[in-house]
Amino acid sequence: MAQVQLEHVTKIYPGDIKAVDDVSLTIADREFLVLVGPSGCGKSTTLRMVAGLEDITAGTIRIGDRVVNGVAPKDRDIAMVFQNYALYPHMTVYKNLGFSLMLRRQHAGWGNPVARLIAPARYQKARAERDEIHRRISDTAAVLGIEELLARRPKALSGGQRQRVAVGRAIVRNPKAFLFDEPLSNLDAKLRVEMRAELKRLHRQVQTTTIYVTHDQEEAMTLGDRVVVMKDGVIHQCATPLELYDRPVNRFVAGFVGTPRMNFLDGRIVRDGERLLFDEGSCRLAVGGAHQDRLSGFVDRPITLGIRPEGLAPADGAAPETTLRVTVGVLEPLGDRMDVYVATERNPDLICRIDSRTPLREGQTTDMQVDLDRVHYFEPGAGGLNVSLADDPS
Ligand code: ADP
Repeated sequence: MAQVQLEHVTKIYPGDIKAVDDVSLTIADREFLVLVGPSGCGKSTTLRMVAGLEDITAGTIRIGDRVVNGVAPKDRDIAMVFQNYALYPHMTVYKNLGFSLMLRRQHAGWGNPVARLIAPARYQKARAERDEIHRRISDTAAVLGIEELLARRPKALSGGQRQRVAVGRAIVRNPKAFLFDEPLSNLDAKLRVEMRAELKRLHRQVQTTTIYVTHDQEEAMTLGDRVVVMKDGVIHQCATPLELYDRPVNRFVAGFVGTPRMNFLDGRIVRDGERLLFDEGSCRLAVGGAHQDRLSGFVDRPITLGIRPEGLAPADGAAPETTLRVTVGVLEPLGDRMDVYVATERNPDLICRIDSRTPLREGQTTDMQVDLDRVHYFEPGAGGLNVSLADDPS
């Protein structure tokens, strides 16, 4: 196992396409790190550079203490699992699992009866190698619960079983790091959730340093010790899942992480005597105590307020300047909770996640209370910085 380090790594494809732009990142030994971002953000290219499948235009990649920039993929001691499994169709599961180990045998071809007579020492070594490979295949099959599948060929396996074998092929080699490129994308939703839990359990067990690429923020949040959010070849934030959720550095991260996504309300900061208020156009909200100082420089300037769907709740005798007057749109019951689409006069696309027993009906006008402690303020624009975090040392 090993730490993996990227220092100022850039990848420019022919045609001057900058896929990865000056990425620096250290993945700790035994860490499970997820790269997530919309399609085309450069996450697969980053992973493929670590694997050695793409040349690096600039920068340095280290696996353990070794700079691997010029090292061939097969000599990097990493194992990659792809979306399409890439199993050998003509081989049994047993052989698929053992194939890479067989290739590395030093005494291949000496395990036969003739060798036993003419070169007994080599014969013994060949047998020991074979026994070791068998042991590793058996251990891996046990870890993944696929012992009963060892004699089958890939075409006789379900999607989930194939994916398990693909993961097994990585584990069996006991590499320094696992690299996963969207490994669950081909599975149906239910199986994806199951495999997700299984990958997490597996990582607890084997603790191999892991870099995992996905476009699915939910998968990223459930799997990663830390999650790296990328866009346009650049890292926007690298943090624990909870930190990303609670303290997104900019509007892009805030909007990318979490379902339903964060609500954004355009408005301005206005002064009311000593206090600051957020003026939404149709409603005014008090600026929470923690934000007063940080927002004093934004008076009379446009700003975007961000609040997650669970930060809005039906107002029940709430204090003034903590509520939004909304019209209720579509209700989406989800069992215990429901998503309710609401609109203010100025901001039409808001969503609240509330108790599904709340008596609301479509078309009704009501007040929604805003949890002022959970509000973020962003500079205008799609990538606007989260100014509520500025100066915050934590
Ligand atoms: P992601 O995995 O986040 O979807 P990629 O790393 O695959 O993104 O791609 C990043 C950018 O690089 C995209 O704009 C993509 O079109 C471009 N790209 C990827 N591979 C190549 C290639 N072989 N040649 C040219 N451009 C490429």
